[in-house]
Amino acid sequence: MRPYDIIKKKRDGHSLSHDELTSFLRGYLNGEVPDYQVSAFLMSVLFRGMTSEETVSLTEVLLNSGQVLDLSDIPGPKVDKHSTGGVGDKVSLILTPLAASAGIIVPMMSGRGLGHTGGTLDKLESIPGFKTGLSIKEFKEILSKVGCAMIGFSHEMAPLDRKLYALRDVTATVESIPLITSSIMSKKLSEGIQGLVLDVKVGSGAFMKDLESARVLAKTMVKIGNSFGVKTIAVITDMNEPLGMAVGNSLEVIESIDALKGKCPEDLMEVTLYLGALMLKVADIEADIEAGKKRLNQLIKDGSAIKKFKEIVEYQGGNPMIAERPTLLPHSCLSVDIFSKQKGYIQSMNAEAIGTASMILGAGRKTMDSEIDHAAGIFLKKKVGDFVEEDDVICTFCTSDEAIIKKAEEIFLNALTFGKGPPEKRKIIIETIE
Ligand code: URA
Repeated sequence: MRPYDIIKKKRDGHSLSHDELTSFLRGYLNGEVPDYQVSAFLMSVLFRGMTSEETVSLTEVLLNSGQVLDLSDIPGPKVDKHSTGGVGDKVSLILTPLAASAGIIVPMMSGRGLGHTGGTLDKLESIPGFKTGLSIKEFKEILSKVGCAMIGFSHEMAPLDRKLYALRDVTATVESIPLITSSIMSKKLSEGIQGLVLDVKVGSGAFMKDLESARVLAKTMVKIGNSFGVKTIAVITDMNEPLGMAVGNSLEVIESIDALKGKCPEDLMEVTLYLGALMLKVADIEADIEAGKKRLNQLIKDGSAIKKFKEIVEYQGGNPMIAERPTLLPHSCLSVDIFSKQKGYIQSMNAEAIGTASMILGAGRKTMDSEIDHAAGIFLKKKVGDFVEEDDVICTFCTSDEAIIKKAEEIFLNALTFGKGPPEKRKIIIETIE
């Protein structure tokens, strides 16, 4: 079938066969099908959707475009966790060493932040010397010695997704459930894992703004994971306010180190322990969630988790002393307190706006290739449900760009709403899909 006919078939709402999808997309990878035809195809998928069979086929084409890791020579259950992205979401930094200290092999591959969301890779790169671009050989060596490693998605794995994602990014075709599912799952499945726990974020700071879309995404990803033989569980978690108190790369590393030593905001610890307990369940280490959480808490208390974090940092070229002396991490030239202009209980904090304020302070990229300031970000002093007086410090901005502070302050303060009484407490763990 000609590329034109494939686009027309999808445009008209018909399903494509495995062979049709394979030949069209392989043609794209080889340079035989041009960007403009693939753009039209992506827009048709965005409007018409895909059947489960098509989504499986698409995932398979992306997965088979590159290498799939074989970790069978490393003993132990291989389980990873993936988040669809949010603001202040540093769970991977805490959970990777924590799960590894419980006996799970965690081959964590992750991406960079874009727009208002943060990325694990950028957070890790705020650790001086930390190498995120290891070869597959080095990655496997560290995995077998330490039990976990944290790197960026390798160019050798799912290269078709990389090409397609860049095109989606500039053609307004990111927000499609089959496209997001196949993109995330092809990369995760290429890690050679046996189990996967997905954190599907919903709310103002997430990709999925409403529960129904998050539910569809979660169910689709679980179905795809299981159909490829990877035991997959998804959890829908709230992202209507930043997770924890720190937003920004080195600030989040510091908060993660504190969490690994047992000092952690309640919401961040709740999400981390729940996802961790599910990883233990998927790994067949601990079937009961409460027992799993208890075991993980114990590994924090007895120092195993922070010890494992220091090992990862050391093996990946960073200075493990950052765990004792956070001043070794980049810190900003300017630290500016932001005062509340209102009195009352905080009812909501729009996480996307707070992510944007942090991004313009320097913590995120304005374009794909702009540089980030690893020290920049926002440290919250108040969260939803807290009472503030007028002129109370509500957060601290960290930046090296004085000129941007006014703009960031305006965005930040507009992100908050106040009321006379405390708001109803929101559930952070919303739903689990197995
Ligand atoms: N993250 C990905 O890797 N792919 C998507 O499509 C969306 C988020």
